[in-house]
Amino acid sequence: MKVITRIPPSPTGNLHIGTARTALFNYLFAKKNGGKIILRSEDTDRERSKKEFEENIIESLNWLGIGYDEFQRQSERGEIYKKYIEKLLKDGSVYEAEEGVIRFKNPNTRIKFTDVVRGDIEFDTSDLENFVIAKNVSEPLYHLAVVVDDHESGITHIIRGEDHISNTPRQILIQEAIGATRPIYAHAPLILAPDRSKLSKRHGATAVIDYQAKGYLPEAMINYLALLGWNPGTDQEIFTMEELIKQFDLNKIQKGGAIFDEKKLAWVNKEHIKRLSPEVQKGMQIKTLKEEHYIKNRPDLDVEKMSWKNFSKEDTKKCLEEVNKLIPDTDAIMKYAERVGKGNVLWPLRYALSGEEKSPDPFTLIAVLGKDESISRVKKAIEIL
Ligand code: GLU
Repeated sequence: MKVITRIPPSPTGNLHIGTARTALFNYLFAKKNGGKIILRSEDTDRERSKKEFEENIIESLNWLGIGYDEFQRQSERGEIYKKYIEKLLKDGSVYEAEEGVIRFKNPNTRIKFTDVVRGDIEFDTSDLENFVIAKNVSEPLYHLAVVVDDHESGITHIIRGEDHISNTPRQILIQEAIGATRPIYAHAPLILAPDRSKLSKRHGATAVIDYQAKGYLPEAMINYLALLGWNPGTDQEIFTMEELIKQFDLNKIQKGGAIFDEKKLAWVNKEHIKRLSPEVQKGMQIKTLKEEHYIKNRPDLDVEKMSWKNFSKEDTKKCLEEVNKLIPDTDAIMKYAERVGKGNVLWPLRYALSGEEKSPDPFTLIAVLGKDESISRVKKAIEIL
């Protein structure tokens, strides 16, 4: 059996952390098994679905490195759903209700399915009553569309968030009515905020694109997302995509809620940065540095913070005058600093450039600020000394 999984986001918002985590699980499982993965834009809700969100979802998945073999858009599949709805109407599994909507004739039975994560789950379907599956033959609702698509695409495994468990019995009833094979279900735990409430905007950024903008590496993002509800059962915490594919195991998805902890994500990011080449690291440092307020705006300098330890203001001033003739020549500045005392030269130089007690070394600052701006900043320091 060839494994076929799916990523079925609704384009009603930017790609959410939770959807990205579930997409990743589907990707890892398909790749591990040499299977196929389908991205399906579930845009049947015409009012809330937006093109820009669909674009964001595609871009975010690309950025994360979560590829797919096929793309579908539900709004383009109306004929397919119609065919199924008409067939169901004909065989009496569904009926047109007085309100005009199409309802499923609930057989009022017990549905039992085995979830890979949660074991046996049983539902009494009578609670669901004769639920609506379409507004009319041309306007299917979520449950009908999703079951038809999964069946038509030969989806073998449905890996999704546990908020969909309660949808499963309706979907199984529809599957049985259209004669579809039941896929294997795995419902992953919800992603929670550190206070164990449902992760939402009030806890910070919830869209993948926000983390991209904050300077996180995609490698770090997928590593951290993979750990939200899954771990290989070893001490390993840092993984590449290849390692994740190799080690991913549906049976190791946890039941308990997964806590999204931005501090942990930052740590994972740092670990991935360490693995990059020094040149790439430097490039990244410069990119994030450009966003610092003391790079964008000239700092206010405190004359009392200008000198290193007991070095006098007069001597500090002389050093800066000398150094200002050497900028941006790192070697010349270093040679001079070694003669006069590294701290005596490099501290005031760094402070003159950033106005911060803590900042990257002066050579990095000069590289970001450029020669002219660096010289101007040092001049200003000299003036107040
Ligand atoms: N479109 C649904 C969502 O965005 C997913 C449906 C499914 O996984 O079956 O939550």
